[in-house]
Amino acid sequence: MGQSLHYGVYLLAGFLVAGVALATVGLDTTDTPEAMLFFAAIGGVFILIGLTKFIIKKMKDVKEGERELRNKIAGGMLDSSTRQQAVMQRSQQQNRPHQSSPQNRPQVIRCSRCGAPNYSTSNFCHKCGVSLR
Ligand SMILES: [Zn+2]
Repeated sequence: MGQSLHYGVYLLAGFLVAGVALATVGLDTTDTPEAMLFFAAIGGVFILIGLTKFIIKKMKDVKEGERELRNKIAGGMLDSSTRQQAVMQRSQQQNRPHQSSPQNRPQVIRCSRCGAPNYSTSNFCHKCGVSLR
């Protein structure tokens, strides 16, 4: 929104106005120097605006370049960290069968009344309904 006009437009307009002013003076020496100064001043202002916009754009480009570089570095770090996590998870998965499988498997207990096998996690016998606790 702030950059409605390209800096090149200002530079072009500035050089055009200044060029016209100089050309007018060069062709018609009777022209008043005030008019020439007026046009030269306008041209100079346009050139200044164009240069300012050019510099601002260059600074923005540099900042965006730095940001991109930082994102790339951060992304690279993220990639390596996720890779490390994946390696860690893989090693944990390799260790798990030895440690956790006997613990995680529910033990089977026999019902005290009917002798039906029940999981130790259940509160009542699935067959006769007697409390296992
Ligand atoms: Zn039972």
